[in-house]
Amino acid sequence: MQVTDKYTLQPFAEIARAEKSHVSRAVEGASAACRQPFAPFERYRVLMKVAELLQAKKELFATTLAAEVGKPIRESRGEVDRAIQTIIISAEEAKRIHGEGIPVESAAGSENRMAFTIRVPVGVIAAITPFNVPLNLVCHKIGPAIAAGNSVVLKPSEVTPVVSLLLAELFGEAGLPKGRLQVVTGDGAEIGSWLLEDQRVSMFSFTGSVRVGEIIRQQAGLRKVALELGNNSATIVHKDCDLDQAAELVALKSFNNSGQVCISVQRVYVHEEVKEAFIERVKARTSKLIVGNPLEETTDIGPMISVREAERVESWVREAVEQGAVPVLGAKREGAFYYPTILTHVQPGMKVCSQEVFGPVVSIDTYREEEEVIAKVNDSDYGLQAGLFTNDLRFAMKAAREIEVGGLIVNDASAYRVDHMPYGGVKRSGTGKEGPAYAIEEMTEERLIVLNL
Ligand code: NAD
Repeated sequence: MQVTDKYTLQPFAEIARAEKSHVSRAVEGASAACRQPFAPFERYRVLMKVAELLQAKKELFATTLAAEVGKPIRESRGEVDRAIQTIIISAEEAKRIHGEGIPVESAAGSENRMAFTIRVPVGVIAAITPFNVPLNLVCHKIGPAIAAGNSVVLKPSEVTPVVSLLLAELFGEAGLPKGRLQVVTGDGAEIGSWLLEDQRVSMFSFTGSVRVGEIIRQQAGLRKVALELGNNSATIVHKDCDLDQAAELVALKSFNNSGQVCISVQRVYVHEEVKEAFIERVKARTSKLIVGNPLEETTDIGPMISVREAERVESWVREAVEQGAVPVLGAKREGAFYYPTILTHVQPGMKVCSQEVFGPVVSIDTYREEEEVIAKVNDSDYGLQAGLFTNDLRFAMKAAREIEVGGLIVNDASAYRVDHMPYGGVKRSGTGKEGPAYAIEEMTEERLIVLNL
């Protein structure tokens, strides 16, 4: 299969299209490797070595990301730095996996017993990943899976698979025991269905769309599933906040990676009293973003993943405008480029508000009352992360209790993540947490040991 450069739209690489027999052999190899000993300190050593190798090849990985994702080079380097951190944190966690003491002796008749739990690997994990952050999100699966003593069959996105293949080479160089990491490339639906059919796979760790997440959930049966899905992230701008800070962060975090970020700011709710000042500032800051060639050091916004996706975003914005939305900036497409777009006078039913845009479009709505804005934020099928700019501690704590999300970020926009924090959504944003320590909990089973003394 051909992988294109998302800026030039020319072929960039060719990858194998796996057939069913390849996928079966990959699972077979992973499953056999799982039965071999692999001590935690060795897992630590391998992962630390991968981080070192990744550091040494940072520029190769960054330019590959810039080509296959269309991600601006500075942001691509940032992704490599994050991936190194994710691998290091996973290495550290490999040494801390532990169970707990269970006081069974407190039950009548069990006075002579003691009990504790240990955490054991689940076995073969199928990791299925999206196009938008194809290095760090892959590390968020392989890192914890290896740290916890599992084997992985990775199925990267077919449009951005090259960094996964480069990364797998580093694991080989770092001395990962043979078979522990398998990468299968090819058609998502085909490979997905073969992995789902294969009962030697014990767990599915998926990041991607709700549509595919639902297929995996339905077909995984009783096996473990972790799902990191979409969102239409909201950020509240309260009247008491630092408007310059809020505008700066909203402008940057709505349009990073052309808005193709699962916690990208999509819906902004600004207090009526500061609406004009805020919109003016966001518009001024956004106008300075440079749209262009991802390989140029000055570029802030590259192309979207495909012309088709840019056309979809264009049609959603057009539909919103027909329904009364007002474009303050952008609303323009050139090939795969969609220009940073700010919409006002939006209605909750418009696609740009109610569905996940996954493009560089932010909608600004207003509110007067706290209750009203909390209801607006919660009026969503999704619940990954939200942002709230305020200096009112009481309002921030009320929002913390009442906003239905996996994470609330105060005095920042929704798109904040460091790699060791718990990360995952509620409602249709998925189930299960990532962040190496939390992923390891999902990727291990707790086994009880009782001693009759
Ligand atoms: P996608 O769901 O189209 O594809 C994701 C992966 O699933 C790809 O590897 C694809 O090949 C594979 N796939 C496709 N059909 C399949 C099937 N039938 N069975 C099994 N696997 C199948 O998503 P995408 O377009 O690559 O990524 C965008 C989506 O990912 C957005 O919805 C975004 O919000 C989400 N995302 C979520 C997070 C998070 O952490 N919550 C992070 C990044 C992206």
